[in-house]
Amino acid sequence: MPRKPRIPSRTTKPTRRVDAPGRTPPKALPPPKSRRKSPRGAEPLVGPQAPVEELLRLLPVRVGHGWDLHRLEPLAPAGQGRPMVLGGVRIIDAQLSRGPVARSDGDVLLHAVTDAVLGALALPDIGTLFPDTDVANEARDSAQFLKHTMVLARKHGYLVGNLDATVVCERPKIGPIKEQVRLNLARLLGVSPERVNVKGKTHEKVDAIGEGRAIEAHAVITMLLIEA
Ligand SMILES: [Zn+2]
Repeated sequence: MPRKPRIPSRTTKPTRRVDAPGRTPPKALPPPKSRRKSPRGAEPLVGPQAPVEELLRLLPVRVGHGWDLHRLEPLAPAGQGRPMVLGGVRIIDAQLSRGPVARSDGDVLLHAVTDAVLGALALPDIGTLFPDTDVANEARDSAQFLKHTMVLARKHGYLVGNLDATVVCERPKIGPIKEQVRLNLARLLGVSPERVNVKGKTHEKVDAIGEGRAIEAHAVITMLLIEA
């Protein structure tokens, strides 16, 4: 009587371990089509004829990051602190005895957002475009920096996708002003408020920010290509 062929059981088959000594590692996946050479061995192609460089230049989505920090000093004339402005919103807080030291109005949030837009487009940063050594920027409304930057972005064919920003300070408390700041940022960026997020953090009373001697802002933004 012929022996029945042995059928391997799926449930008892040992799992293949790629890290076991002596085992052959799994074959690497073939490179994506975008990295394969064209049949003629010329430029790598993506799509029918487009060179990779051209597609990279016309990235449909760009990500930008901005960061800024300002020293806080007692308000003038006791110190050099300017009245606090965040995201273009003047802060009214009786317990706020210090303000940012800056050539401009010292809006740390608008500076971070402006740098995020410029960074996404690989353009010179805010300090290069609007140097603090330029007397024309004395006490200047930082919204002008962002408005100018948005004109540059539009010239490059990009509009804002969304913004996520964080302000780090002990005072003012961000919660009560968050919505007003969010609406103003959305207006300046030309997007609906649903595309803008603003968060507030403290620095747990440690270091310069935690001791109320500085304020910091971070911004991450996406820019969408609307025309090449
Ligand atoms: Zn700044």
